[in-house]
Amino acid sequence: LLELKDIVKSFGSHRAVDSVSLSLNPQDKTVIIGPSGSGKSTLLRTINFLETIDSGSIMFEGRDVGYRRHKGHLILDKPRNICKLRAQIGMVFQHFNLFPHMTVVENAMEGQVTVQGLARKEAREIAMSMLDKVGMKDFADRYPAALSGGQKQRAAIARALAMRPKLMLFDEPTSALDPELVGEVFATIKQLADEGMTMIIVTHNMGFAREVADQLYFMEDGSFLAQGEPDEFFGKHCNDPRIQSFIQRIF
Ligand code: ATP
Ligand code: MG
Repeated sequence: LLELKDIVKSFGSHRAVDSVSLSLNPQDKTVIIGPSGSGKSTLLRTINFLETIDSGSIMFEGRDVGYRRHKGHLILDKPRNICKLRAQIGMVFQHFNLFPHMTVVENAMEGQVTVQGLARKEAREIAMSMLDKVGMKDFADRYPAALSGGQKQRAAIARALAMRPKLMLFDEPTSALDPELVGEVFATIKQLADEGMTMIIVTHNMGFAREVADQLYFMEDGSFLAQGEPDEFFGKHCNDPRIQSFIQRIF
């Protein structure tokens, strides 16, 4: 479904993402962990073109996408093509990023109407079914300001799902939540995972990482330092001092 090859992204002289390759088949659940500033968010953002890359390639459904080459440089594809690609990749952020002036159901309709050109009636039906899926149907007409953090995040997940994406990206979806609200958001993501959604999740929650991941990556200084299936990962790498110290610090 997705193949990243040798992705490099620098800010000034700092290589935030330093030659990362990653391959996902449909239904794969990939979890990325790693210390603050290691480039996890930047990497996720390059996948849906919120951040351009300096070099490397992005293949989606077997095709090279997003960039064309011009005089040795990578140039971002036409905005219309980028929009189409982005619509197939849902993203959920740490800080929800709901539209504050729209109700929950309007939030979940917006992309369908403006990007996908659906009629409002159809968009509303799809939005409601996604809100139902995340347990937020009863809050459809509320504004984000009147929701708890966990409810906001579930609304944000429903908004992403309403675009019927082929891939979902979660960037620390629970790290802005009070501890008692973390569970409901993880349960929602786990349910999606069990239904077969392909996803990449950045999280500091090792318990959840272990439960949901079929591949785990440890990122440091812009590169993947270690990779493995969860049991193998925690077994094999528990003697690596850098990973050891990271895991100890977050527990
Ligand atoms: P965290 O766990 O704190 O979210 P992260 O692994 O997501 O960290 P990134 O946000 O990807 O890390 O940042 C990687 C590096 O790139 C950091 O050194 C950061 O300061 C830098 N960086 C990120 N975005 C920008 C930007 N827009 N301009 C300049 N530097 C940036
Ligand atoms: Mg981040």
